[in-house]
Amino acid sequence: MYDIVVIGAGAAGLTAAIYATRAEKKVLVLEGKTYGGQIINSLSVENYPGMYKVSGPDFAKALYEQAKELGAEIGFEAVTKVNKLENGFEIVTEDDKYEAKVVIIATGSEYRKLGLPLEKELEGKGLSYCATCDGAFFKDKEVIVNGGGNTALYDAEYLARICKKVYLVHRRSEFRGDKALFDRVKALSNVEIVAPAVISELLPEDGKFAGVVLSSTDGETGDAILGEPKELRAEGLFVAIGSKPSSEVFEGLVEMDENGYIVASEDCKTSVPGIFVAGDVRTSSLKQLVTATADGARAATEAVKAFSY
Ligand code: NAP
Repeated sequence: MYDIVVIGAGAAGLTAAIYATRAEKKVLVLEGKTYGGQIINSLSVENYPGMYKVSGPDFAKALYEQAKELGAEIGFEAVTKVNKLENGFEIVTEDDKYEAKVVIIATGSEYRKLGLPLEKELEGKGLSYCATCDGAFFKDKEVIVNGGGNTALYDAEYLARICKKVYLVHRRSEFRGDKALFDRVKALSNVEIVAPAVISELLPEDGKFAGVVLSSTDGETGDAILGEPKELRAEGLFVAIGSKPSSEVFEGLVEMDENGYIVASEDCKTSVPGIFVAGDVRTSSLKQLVTATADGARAATEAVKAFSY
């Protein structure tokens, strides 16, 4: 039996493994894809304190090697179920079954995608899902933000300070983000609201993002309607249409909010004693590399404390 099984080998999970192995616990990290989580998609991370301009894949590799060097076992198997036992948990993967006294869930979240052709190819080449991560690359440039929630509104406000012009494209006339924030964004002289409209095509140029084709929508429902498509050229596109926590496997096991995020405060304790949650899959208002690693440290520290009860 392992002391701790960490589910997910992103920044939160690997940091949890580092802290837990240093506290002399027997740790297994299980990961269904590759190690590193979302950070492997960032060519350059410029907001992680003390590591200015580190590449995302290099950062992930360093974390992975650190966790292994400290004694964490890392298995590349997707977890399909977690069952509560009398004294711990059974963690079922595609290939095997493991037992642990404590579980740390660190499965992250995925940005919701537009689902358009070329979206994957243009990611990191002008198309981004994270304004805080990549906004600085678009200094004095024209960019598009897509979405109508608080993330899109915050992104538009943030980018307006850096970029020459921000087009805020939303599929409905009404924005679902906070009214006060919307009013603030609307008042910015370099933000132009383009709504209702939907991005129906991504335009590349020399392998980079160069603009979009916008189609008409019904302002109330956001559904596409017949109308003349229009081109909107810009150097950057920030897609901010929500994100999806990777938490399906834990449905019915721990409490989640209406969007599927696992409910916990900064102490990373879930509704089930012995199960902790760290990083983007947890309910929190800021989802960044620095908050993921901080959560990993906190979840492991709380998990280690659980052994003394
Ligand atoms: P969200 O509230 O779910 O909004 C997503 C937006 O994207 C909606 O306006 C939606 O349009 C639009 N959308 C979804 N799919 C689309 C598609 N395929 N094409 C075009 N548009 C699409 O997501 P979020 O803004 O990321 O916010 C998530 C949660 O975090 C919210 O509860 C939010 O309040 C919270 N949040 C809080 C803060 C903060 O307080 N600091 C900051 C950011 C986010 P419709 O409106 O038509 O559905």
